[in-house]
Amino acid sequence: MATVAEALERLSRSRFRSGFYLSRKDIAYLEEKGPDVIRRHAQDFVRQKLAPADPVNDGKQTPMSGHPVFKAMHATACCCRGCLEKWYHVPQHRALTEEEQEAVVKLLMAWIGRMVCHGQERLKHRELR
Ligand SMILES: [Zn+2]
Repeated sequence: MATVAEALERLSRSRFRSGFYLSRKDIAYLEEKGPDVIRRHAQDFVRQKLAPADPVNDGKQTPMSGHPVFKAMHATACCCRGCLEKWYHVPQHRALTEEEQEAVVKLLMAWIGRMVCHGQERLKHRELR
């Protein structure tokens, strides 16, 4: 997989991928749970939804909302094995290695971190106006 910075840069050029944002509710949830818990959720989702050689309902296993990590998975093209292959050249029909799972989690957490900053910026500007 590419580095996190390279991946985020490429994703920012996709209209579809760059169209995902965290809602105020998502940000409140992140603040309530804290980064360690969110990282564990991300690890669990990646293990269940992406890591198996042939994930259940592959292509449709990641909801569009309901958890900030789900949005991160779509925004980073880590939503299914088809997208993972297309964007990161990870072959389908074999299990992900521990390193690959960790790389995905790192990317998801980086995206979430950026979005939290953007969200706070947006709120700040609204307050200033
Ligand atoms: Zn996908």
